[in-house]
Amino acid sequence: MKCFRCGKRDAVIDGLCRECYLETHELIEVQEYIDLFVCPHCLSISKDGNRWKDTEDLEKSIIDNALSMVKIPKNARIIEMDAGLREQDERNYILAGSALLDIGGMKEELSFESKIRLKRMTCPRCSRIHGGYYEAIIQVRGPNRAMTDEEKIEAEELIAGMAEEMGRSSRDVFITDEMEMHGGLDFYISNARAAKNIAKELSRRFSGKITESKKLAGRKEGEDIYRFTYLVRLPEFRKGDFIEYMGEYHQIISSSGGTWRIYSLEKRVEKKVRGGEVKKFKAVARKEDAEEAVVISYRDGEAQVLHPETYKTVTIKTEKDPGESIRIIRINGEIYALRDDE
Ligand SMILES: [Zn+2]
Ligand SMILES: [Zn+2]
Repeated sequence: MKCFRCGKRDAVIDGLCRECYLETHELIEVQEYIDLFVCPHCLSISKDGNRWKDTEDLEKSIIDNALSMVKIPKNARIIEMDAGLREQDERNYILAGSALLDIGGMKEELSFESKIRLKRMTCPRCSRIHGGYYEAIIQVRGPNRAMTDEEKIEAEELIAGMAEEMGRSSRDVFITDEMEMHGGLDFYISNARAAKNIAKELSRRFSGKITESKKLAGRKEGEDIYRFTYLVRLPEFRKGDFIEYMGEYHQIISSSGGTWRIYSLEKRVEKKVRGGEVKKFKAVARKEDAEEAVVISYRDGEAQVLHPETYKTVTIKTEKDPGESIRIIRINGEIYALRDDE
């Protein structure tokens, strides 16, 4: 069959030859100018000023956004598409690309070009951060004492890590502010639901207690707006800490449902005690104080262990063979072996 338009060449698609088809169809449609918004504070990017995306590589992000605006006919399929940017100045770029299309079985390589104009616009997240926006405060506090530096660092890392993780999928989650307050820490969180989840996880990690309160902050579109406070109170003793109880040294194995499981370092047995007994606990060392030591010899449940600091050997109760390393704790100059799995 000949092409019905020119009558000279064979028809290959829709009754037209390749040349006539290309002359009568626009196969790739690109705007002459593509405007993109870039936030000068966080370099996130937006096509319309409403929906914003974080960028890891601004140039790649500009290209991806521009390519997503390239239009092809319904019966065409992109086999390959490539593009590069030529910078004209800080705000203006030329996008030059090529695409290999399959149009009803006919393969065509096409090139395209567009001018990209970057416009500066502060994204909603950055304007909220600069405006001090928050919906909830997470208050982390010690148990009738100031938090230790370790507790502060652990809480900070957990909160910052979770907020960052959540912020990756939802741009309205971020930390507006963080401050030291009454021996503890206050975190101002942009999103109340996120703050609640973070506070729950924090309380779970530390075996702490969580108290929720709210305060009317105003009205918006006929609805009351509340600001929430999640107070996470850390317990005096944490899993892994060492205590004196009934004249013996113990390590705390766990605390849940009002029961404490503790391990006697001298008798090498585990005990369960009621929650109320915690009043009799006396802190003697923190879980971070535990050390590694090497067993030199072993006999009848007692091992010679190399003291990590003095390099003197000491005898302690354990079931480890020579050459193995064990976890130990020093309390009042004495060394105790921890339970194998601690
Ligand atoms: Zn033709
Ligand atoms: Zn921004």
